[in-house]
Amino acid sequence: MIGAHTDSPVLRVKPVSNKRGEGFLQVGVETYGGGIWHTCILQFPTREFIADIAVLRIPTLAIHLDRQENFAFNKETQLFPIAGLVAAELNRTGETKAEPATEGEFEPLKSVSERHHPYFVELIAAEAQVNPTDILDFEVILFDTQKACLGGLLEEFIFSPRLDNLNSSYCATVGLIDSVADKSALDNESSIRLIALFDHEEIGSRTAQGADSNALPAIIRRLSVLPSSSSKETDLSTAYEQTLSTSFLVSADMAHSIHPNYSAKYESDHKPEINKGPVIKINANARYATNAPGIVLLQEVARKTTKESGEHVPLQLFVVRNDSSCGSTIGPMLSAALGARTLDLGNPQLSMHSIRETGGTYDVAHAIRLFTGFFQHYSDLSKTIFVD
Ligand SMILES: [Zn+2]
Repeated sequence: MIGAHTDSPVLRVKPVSNKRGEGFLQVGVETYGGGIWHTCILQFPTREFIADIAVLRIPTLAIHLDRQENFAFNKETQLFPIAGLVAAELNRTGETKAEPATEGEFEPLKSVSERHHPYFVELIAAEAQVNPTDILDFEVILFDTQKACLGGLLEEFIFSPRLDNLNSSYCATVGLIDSVADKSALDNESSIRLIALFDHEEIGSRTAQGADSNALPAIIRRLSVLPSSSSKETDLSTAYEQTLSTSFLVSADMAHSIHPNYSAKYESDHKPEINKGPVIKINANARYATNAPGIVLLQEVARKTTKESGEHVPLQLFVVRNDSSCGSTIGPMLSAALGARTLDLGNPQLSMHSIRETGGTYDVAHAIRLFTGFFQHYSDLSKTIFVD
């Protein structure tokens, strides 16, 4: 199995978002996850929802009006995007009236077009190709409109929003597909190849569809009792437990590359470099789930894949400094819930949780090759690794 997460820190529209201030239309937003929020204001202020129109923007205060050394702001009062001008909204023709649906009838809640700017609701309706009055409720998150691009003198970098963790999600998906590209790929396969891409990692995973739920155990339980062609008569009452004891989970989430301006923040013997391959993350306090047998297995996968493909599949090791805080992943919670062997790894990147992150162009190929090889060779290789 390879597990990863699809969500990123974002701003989410509040249930009542209709705000006005000093002639501006504004939209109330809530922070989701631990974003580096000042980058939303400072670096790439164009935030959009829907297609190609940049709808919202969080404007900074001019430096002339506040010469503060360290940029600080209030997340409740100073992070609201602007959506337009009240005067323009008043002059607009053909708009939806902010009225309750039926005159005189009791409504438990105010209508959607009363709780949000009517034009905002119209945009959502246009995108969904329905009438604004057909929208009963919605959940909208905001994202940066600027597309990802290659960067660096030799295009060795990817400058992109949400590398954490769409990079791992993408590599896991392509790895799974590539591993079965050959028609006979599954002829002698005794394992199930599975990827699990979760929402809600950035807010702790404790939700119905998060990694800290029953979702993955329930799916594995159902898969494990499927009768296999070779074992029709076997007792399936412990199939789930047997499956888990022979399974292995790669928890794929982005890692921290060494930062040239902050090298003192890194442990001197564990400084992952961009484009030098996926980083295996180790933590004595189990913030990461990696252990030695897992490292041996991944190394063998990388070795075998390199031999077969003729392309190097390098790996790196990371531990955090003892005097530093440490992130975590879905790895420890899934390994605790499943009891399956687990390893944490991910491609190195800079500026994690900024609105614009930096990763390595070649690490995408490294991770895809590693994941393809993991799926292809796990069944054979796992039998060769013994722990005394
Ligand atoms: Zn992540």
